[in-house]
Amino acid sequence: MVLEGLGSRISGALRKMTDSTVIDETALKEMLKEINHALLEADVNIKSVVQLRKNVTERVKLEELAAGVNKRKVIQKAVFDELCSMLDPGTAPVTLKRGKPNVVMFVGLQGNGKTTSCVKYAYYHQRKGWKACLVCADTFRAGAFDQLKQNATKAKVPFFGSYTETDPVKIATDGVNRFKNEGYDLIIVDTSGRHKQEEALFAEMEQMAESVNPTDIIFVMDSAIGQAAYDQALAFRAKVKVGSVIITKLDGHAKGGGALSAVSATKSPITFIGTGEHIDEFEPFKTQAFVGRLLGLGDVSGLVNTIKEAGLHENVEMYKRITEGVFTLRDMYDQLESISKLGPLNKVMGMIPGMAEMMKNTNGVDGSVRIKRFQHIMDSMTMKEMEDPKVNFTASRKERIARGSGRHPQEVEELLIEYKRFSKVVGKVGKMSKKNMNIDQLSRNTSQTFQ
Ligand code: GDP
Repeated sequence: MVLEGLGSRISGALRKMTDSTVIDETALKEMLKEINHALLEADVNIKSVVQLRKNVTERVKLEELAAGVNKRKVIQKAVFDELCSMLDPGTAPVTLKRGKPNVVMFVGLQGNGKTTSCVKYAYYHQRKGWKACLVCADTFRAGAFDQLKQNATKAKVPFFGSYTETDPVKIATDGVNRFKNEGYDLIIVDTSGRHKQEEALFAEMEQMAESVNPTDIIFVMDSAIGQAAYDQALAFRAKVKVGSVIITKLDGHAKGGGALSAVSATKSPITFIGTGEHIDEFEPFKTQAFVGRLLGLGDVSGLVNTIKEAGLHENVEMYKRITEGVFTLRDMYDQLESISKLGPLNKVMGMIPGMAEMMKNTNGVDGSVRIKRFQHIMDSMTMKEMEDPKVNFTASRKERIARGSGRHPQEVEELLIEYKRFSKVVGKVGKMSKKNMNIDQLSRNTSQTFQ
């Protein structure tokens, strides 16, 4: 899961506070201290970290809360909102218009994942019905055209480039004109990178932008640089009109949180994140959904998109059950079964409300192994136990189920705890959807999980 370390430390701090006997100023301070440490370790700028702590402390006045108000939820919501505002640039990205020849130019330093992201971006849009194509205007790096050609062929995206032409601006102009004439509506131009920011790179970018007149310029940046992303984003923005940013390699870097917040601080919208080398390890970046997943609260809209993209229409039932909020052990079993079909387990898990926690709380056991064990335990239950959410599991029944499945009674207990927690969250999602929210509203209102 992306930024797993950061996410589990923040949700761990929240959980620890929730589990403490009294939720008072001391418990709140302790939790904020832990969250601050986690953010600093992810290379988030100290000023933003101090600000988050200050804002949460100002918002949550424990002594002023009316009796009966759930302190835990008030605190959780404040942390959620503050993390969202830390990652929200407050600027909307450029929108592309269907049916028009949109030209999107990719810029960035060499090795940051520019070419990989161009192909991922083309592939992503092509699957959404765009007529996408690629132009390789990187004449600086030997082998750049071959790399693009190879990846574009795999993704079945048309491409344009030249082995002999040395002027990148000419290649870009020729390629864009050709694809425009052929009726493409998303023409992606991969430009040259350099090892560091230098005048020649910026001059080439400016000339190319002038010549192809792009609808959007996307700046691609490796998350490994952490908060240094702030200066780099500003340096590029000063030279060309960067409309959005893609942050790559979030799968492998502890400093990813720092890069994300630093880019937002420059008021540049992050539109996609790269989460692996593979072509579909690429996802749209939506602040609330991202923070929801980070805190283990799920991302219903991301889940539905994944179901749709995987073409698993039979799983519409699964989605329906989640949104209806009715949840039995059988539903849990079926969901675990369907989830494994949806793709990399860790990617899908974070999108299901409450599921990320199940994956993390594993006492050293791999999440997918734990899920298999849960399924074996459920195989030893009766039909009534599986289908009636009101069944009471006595100690002797739990022991019997444990023996039947070859597991320890403690694991049966763990399964039932996860089931309870899981169904509680699903119930909340159900309540939200009964308020007639559509799926987009649901995801925009992830924070309502706290109410
Ligand atoms: P460019 O020089 O900026 O065009 O960079 P490339 O697209 O050639 O990427 C450099 C390296 O980073 C390649 O080995 C890519 O496979 C790898 N890469 C790109 N994006 C990601 C990502 O999101 N995650 C991981 N793990 N690797 C990536």
